[in-house]
Amino acid sequence: MRVVITGGAGFLGSHLSDRFLAEGHEVIVLDNLITGSTDNIVHLAGNDAFTFIKHNVSSYIYVDGPVDAVLHFASPASPNDYLEFPIPTLKVGSLGTLNTLGLAKAKGARYLLASTSEVYGDPQVNPQPESYWGHVNPIGPRGVYDEAKRFAEAMTMAYHRYHGMDTRIVRIFNTYGPRMRLNDGRVVPNFISQALRGEPLTVYGDGQQTRSFQYVSDLVDGVYRLLFSDEVLPVNIGNPVEMTVLDFARTVLDVTGSDSDIVFVQPEDSRVRDDPQVRRPDITKARELLGWQPQVMLREGLEKTIPYFRDCLQ
Ligand code: UDP
Repeated sequence: MRVVITGGAGFLGSHLSDRFLAEGHEVIVLDNLITGSTDNIVHLAGNDAFTFIKHNVSSYIYVDGPVDAVLHFASPASPNDYLEFPIPTLKVGSLGTLNTLGLAKAKGARYLLASTSEVYGDPQVNPQPESYWGHVNPIGPRGVYDEAKRFAEAMTMAYHRYHGMDTRIVRIFNTYGPRMRLNDGRVVPNFISQALRGEPLTVYGDGQQTRSFQYVSDLVDGVYRLLFSDEVLPVNIGNPVEMTVLDFARTVLDVTGSDSDIVFVQPEDSRVRDDPQVRRPDITKARELLGWQPQVMLREGLEKTIPYFRDCLQ
């Protein structure tokens, strides 16, 4: 297959590119490098099956030749990033989705949208099944990402229903691993880099909010299986092992062997407003339809991730 991956120079997109190339497909990456980096794909330079095009997919997209699948992974994706780039975040989820759907339609390609657990907002149901409609504040700081992704899902379903396009929607829960940006502001790079530097781990609020962390290879495998399945409706891909942020801080200290302190901080309001208090995927659907479940548990995943951050810090 000839596959277009938007955001392919980002954390998830670059790992997906590796997987598609390893499976013998041809990969064309479109990325404007707003939060992605060529460092993530430099190892693919010289591979004849790989092409990188620097392009903002919120503008009209032109790709030469046939395309069999379009995977739309381009977007700022950490709360810090979408606070810094609110309008590009809204544009890539709306105009970027429109343009990538248009590309897939013109080429007769299958389409896969990277959606997010953020469509569930600060959920009032835990764990979250795909049937839950969510609890989102459209005008809060996270609204630019959450509503763009909700719009993207609506647009994808409209292209499926109205144009008969073959589409997929993956709702991605917190994912971590090598190639996350050290300074992207998310809890995994923050805590690991703080632990490695011997600085205090900054737990926001009382640390009783929960998350469920999935290692990147599990996400990539879920996306790959979903693309080749027949399921048009959204599918959650995440690790259902839920823990408090405070327990996560303790786990990072343990796995890194760091003697850093844990401090409770109250960051400026916009960084934590509408912070989901619980998050855990119900993965019944992925198990049943895709035969998928996470293979890498937290400690093992952290052990694979820490050397990457250690290198970045040197
Ligand atoms: N968080 C924290 N300390 C940090 C960064 C994040 O306690 O240095 C918390 C944050 O308030 C949230 C959780 O960790 O409850 C996960 O935040 P992240 O930015 O990784 O992503 P989110 O899951 O909110 O999209």
